[in-house]
Amino acid sequence: MNIPSDSPVLALEHNITWAFENATPYSGASLTEAVNDGRVSAEIGLNCDLTAAPPKGPCLHRHTAKAVPEMHLSLKHLELLWSFIYSWMVIYERGIQMPMLAGVWNGSVDTSDPIIQRALQLRGWSASLRTLASHWPAHLPSPIHYPSDQEQWYGEKANLVFQQAAAFLLGHEYAHALGKHIQAITPDVSDVEAVLAEKEADVRAFESLVEFATDDEQKLDKAWAIISALLSSLYLCTDMKRAFRQYRHPQLHHRLQHFLSMLNLQGEQYQSYFPMLCAIILEHAIPELEDTPRSETIFEDSNHALDDVLDRITTWSA
Ligand SMILES: [Zn+2]
Repeated sequence: MNIPSDSPVLALEHNITWAFENATPYSGASLTEAVNDGRVSAEIGLNCDLTAAPPKGPCLHRHTAKAVPEMHLSLKHLELLWSFIYSWMVIYERGIQMPMLAGVWNGSVDTSDPIIQRALQLRGWSASLRTLASHWPAHLPSPIHYPSDQEQWYGEKANLVFQQAAAFLLGHEYAHALGKHIQAITPDVSDVEAVLAEKEADVRAFESLVEFATDDEQKLDKAWAIISALLSSLYLCTDMKRAFRQYRHPQLHHRLQHFLSMLNLQGEQYQSYFPMLCAIILEHAIPELEDTPRSETIFEDSNHALDDVLDRITTWSA
């Protein structure tokens, strides 16, 4: 199988580097200074692996032990990220939030709506990449193809979130380069040190993206971006329990809760919007949770939906 070099996400390549380069520099070190100091390479590598192997997330790469670390993205992972963001955005906003706000929510997504239908298909494709990479289905929405004007509208929102999600992931790798964490993420340091390096990289990446967003409106696409960057990692796993039983990374659910509290959204309508989004994505990604007893359904008590799902994940993954 060959993934063509004309992958639809390549249309957004420059948006990603723009979003990353325009994120806030932290610790007073600009990207230019870090490059000049030899702490990180000026190049961002793009891995265009053409095999059917599943995507891999971003990493910090060194050609030789002494080489300057280079941030690497993978094209297949960017495809997964965009399709994850677009499909969940349509399913959540159009399929769930809209009918809930209109008071006509009947407990399930309206699959007769062709826009939702195509989003569900795209989500299916996105999730299938964890076992086998394949071509982007040409009839489904992508950054270069929208079957309708409304899909283009969602797609443009997804583009904005996508470029910030990719910038957030790059910001995390950049923090590893700047923090000289490369040693800390190699196998010979303790789990505790490795977890600390990961936590620091998370906080730095968060600050670089969100620091100057002062109100809820400015934070919304950033919140979508961070949540998507984290939760799309579930679509990279075939052993889902491993995602929740990390030793050298903070646990996924702790990262999620940490970011939600750092985002500190004030508006009443957002107190449940993002926790509910996370709860729905998690429940969908882990079908085994069906067998764990729940206290409420997500839609009965959206404020506590995430806590409930996370409790059930703890029980299930133990
Ligand atoms: Zn890391």
